[in-house]
Amino acid sequence: MVELIDETARVKSIALEPPEWPGHRAGQHVDVRLTAEDGYQAERSYSIASAPEDEQLVLTVERLEDGEVSPYLTDELRPGDTLELRGPIGGYFLWEEPLGGPLLLLAGGSGVVPLRSILRHHSASRSAVPVRLLYSSRSLEEVIYREELAALAGTGGVEIHFTLTREAPEGWRGYRRRIDSALLREVAWPSQDRPLVYVCGPTPFVEAAASTLVELGHDAARIKTERFGPTGG
Ligand SMILES: Cc1cc2nc3c(=O)[nH]c(=O)nc-3n(C[C@H](O)[C@H](O)[C@H](O)COP(=O)(O)OP(=O)(O)OC[C@H]3O[C@@H](n4cnc5c(N)ncnc54)[C@H](O)[C@@H]3O)c2cc1C
Repeated sequence: MVELIDETARVKSIALEPPEWPGHRAGQHVDVRLTAEDGYQAERSYSIASAPEDEQLVLTVERLEDGEVSPYLTDELRPGDTLELRGPIGGYFLWEEPLGGPLLLLAGGSGVVPLRSILRHHSASRSAVPVRLLYSSRSLEEVIYREELAALAGTGGVEIHFTLTREAPEGWRGYRRRIDSALLREVAWPSQDRPLVYVCGPTPFVEAAASTLVELGHDAARIKTERFGPTGG
C-alpha cells in the first residue's frame, strides 16, 4: 500500500501497486482479506476506483462505525503495509467503449466508486459516448471525488448532476431530493434513446432506482446493478 487519500470525513482512498497485477476493466472489484494474529480472517469486496489506464490501483472505502473490515482499512492501515487482494473480479458490471451508450450512471453514496472508474476510463480512452452521472449523497461534505467530478463536468460529453438528500448548503443549485421518477425524467435520457444504465450503491437505493427506470419504460436488460450492502441511504 503506497498512499492514503482523505476523500471525506468517513471515506479514504487506498492507492496500491500490487506486484503481480494482470490489469482490470472499468467496473470490476477486488476481494480484500484481512488475517488477525490468531488466524481469524475476514473478507470484503471493494470496487476498483481507478481506470485501467491509471498507474496505481485505487480502492475507496467508506468507514462503517460498527463494521469489521472498513474501519481497519480507513483508520489502521498505514503506507507500507501490505494487503491481501484477490481479483480483479466481475464480468458483468463493466463498461468498455464497444458497449456504446448513451451512458447513464446512477450512484448512491460510495456506489460512485466503480462509476468513477468508468468515467476515468471513458475520459482516458477519449470516448465520444455521451455520459450522465446522477450522484445522490446525504450532504455536500459526503460527496466523494467532488473536485474531480466537478472538473469533468462539461468535458468530452460528460454531464454530472448531484442531488443532496439530507442537507444542502445555502445557495445550492443542484437537486436536493432522493432519486425518484420526476428526477429521473428530468436527468435520464428518455427510454426511447435506450441508454445503457449502471446503478450502484446501498441495496435499497439500487432497487428503487432500477425499478423506477423500468416503470419509466427502460429496458431492464440495459440496466446493470451492483449492490454494496444491506442498509444505508
Ligand atoms: C461488489 C461489491 C463492491 C463493493 N465496493 C465497495 C466500495 O468500493 N467501497 C466501500 O466502502 N464498500 C464497498 N462494498 C461494501 C463492502 O464490501 C463492505 O460490505 C463494507 O465495507 C462493510 O464491511 P465491514 O466489514 O466494515 O462491515 P460489516 O462488519 O460487514 O457490517 C457492519 C454493519 O454494517 C452493515 N453493512 C454492511 N455492509 C454495508 C454497506 N455497504 N452499507 C451500509 N451498511 C452495511 C451490516 O449489516 C452491519 O450491520 C462493496 C460490496 C460489494 C458486494
